[in-house]
Amino acid sequence: MARGGISSCVPRGRTGARPSAADRYNRSTAPPAMVLLGIESTAHTASVGIVDDRAQVLSLATDMYRPAQGGIHPREAANHHVEVLPRLVTQALESAHVRPSEVEAVAFSQGPGLGPCLRAGATVARMLSLAWERPLVPVNHCVAHVEIARVLSGLDDPLLLYASGGNTQVIAYFKGRYRVLGETLDIGIGNFIDKLWIELGGTFPGGPALELEARQSSHLLPLPYSVHGMDVAFSGMLTASLALFGKGVSRPDLAYSVEVTAYAMLTEITERALAHRRRDSVVLGGGVACNERLREMVRAMVEGRGGRMFAPPRALCVDNGAMIAWTGRLALASHVTVPIEASAVQPRQRTDLVDTPWRGS
Ligand code: AMP
Ligand code: MG
Repeated sequence: MARGGISSCVPRGRTGARPSAADRYNRSTAPPAMVLLGIESTAHTASVGIVDDRAQVLSLATDMYRPAQGGIHPREAANHHVEVLPRLVTQALESAHVRPSEVEAVAFSQGPGLGPCLRAGATVARMLSLAWERPLVPVNHCVAHVEIARVLSGLDDPLLLYASGGNTQVIAYFKGRYRVLGETLDIGIGNFIDKLWIELGGTFPGGPALELEARQSSHLLPLPYSVHGMDVAFSGMLTASLALFGKGVSRPDLAYSVEVTAYAMLTEITERALAHRRRDSVVLGGGVACNERLREMVRAMVEGRGGRMFAPPRALCVDNGAMIAWTGRLALASHVTVPIEASAVQPRQRTDLVDTPWRGS
């Protein structure tokens, strides 16, 4: 497998006019012949990424749907994606200095995700595949988070703590599949944080704002700590947090307590999974993995066990087209393509039902 090509998520177009010193240092002796284009649209983010066969991100164009108020509405998010994706495709091609004829295949997020959003991305991918006469490559969104972190980290077989808006999972590869060892039993950690933040008077997305608020406190309030083996649950903490806020506790104290409690839960299940699978390295993925406290808590746990923790740059932790393109690259090399008539999206696609022939058995 190509490895170690990305040293930063900063996209570097092939013949960009102003390469930085790092760009020049990382530039290969010869430009790659063909590249892969990936389309991401599982939830609130529409994104198009272009990568080469050494996993260099040549461009990444992203536009996130932000509801004026409340949480994500699938149909409105899908309308947003339909509107912005053509521009994102053009932008990605232009900033990568890539012509359509140089695109080897078009990869798209097939699932899991919100049906209307997935269909928006898949429709654009099918159109490009037809227009450019290039194969269509289906990609599982969760597997893409693992693969981009794996190639960026150089770690061969890490465990993934995937903490995003809709998903909270601990994933490891064994017996020929990526398998979910533990997950949320109710809502995703990001959705929990977003809901809470909106109830506290904020706007979507809540995670970055809650992180700033939490930095203003070090007072830990008791909150439900809900770990069941390698699974977690957050709805009890949401109810308890809102009750405490109703009784007048301060927003910083609540933000701090929620972060410490929720991230301790994630750290605990990750450690249990490491011990269970006899692994020593962990990679992070998902928007919540942008959080500094979560990164530090997991890093302390992993390094305390003598292992290595890696968190991708934030642009590649959140949903992004580059991880879809890179995983499409791996899939294509293993001859995984799909005819248009069989390329229906799979909103409930399970990670452990997806073939990953590039990983072997
Ligand atoms: P994703 O679904 O992977 O694109 O991630 C989006 C989720 O990540 C949203 O729920 C955000 O609130 C959350 N998020 C983004 N940045 C942070 C952060 N710094 N801390 C916690 N959560 C975050
Ligand atoms: Mg995601």
